[in-house]
Amino acid sequence: MTEKTLFRKIIEREIPADIVFQDERVTAFRDINPQAPTHILIVPNKAIPTVNDVTSDDEHTLGHLFIVAKKLAKNEGIAENGYRLLINCGVHGHQEVFHLHMHLVGGKPLGRMLSNNTR
Ligand code: 5GP
Repeated sequence: MTEKTLFRKIIEREIPADIVFQDERVTAFRDINPQAPTHILIVPNKAIPTVNDVTSDDEHTLGHLFIVAKKLAKNEGIAENGYRLLINCGVHGHQEVFHLHMHLVGGKPLGRMLSNNTR
């Protein structure tokens, strides 16, 4: 049996987290190290390691991440001013937890997405 990911342990409530939403397809919980007033991770319950591992079977679940993100943004009171959704992939994407997840970040102006440094 493969080792459970950290996020799988949170989903199964083996590790505590501030879970703000859960259904049969996704779980959302507050990031332990928030980068903004709202920083929520929206995670498929199925442990897909990275975007590179996504298959057409995952289409429904991954589309659902956006529906949940939209609802949570409204619940958090950040929908109107806007927010950022991001998914890191692999080493260059600075992915730290290899269980695909969407970050929902907002509650303050976030600035440009990336620096202009192309090197
Ligand atoms: P990544 O860099 O993989 O896109 O993002 C991983 C995120 O998971 C980071 O923002 C990090 O703060 C968060 N994180 C890491 N460990 C934990 C944990 O044990 N609990 C929670 N709630 N978030 C975590």
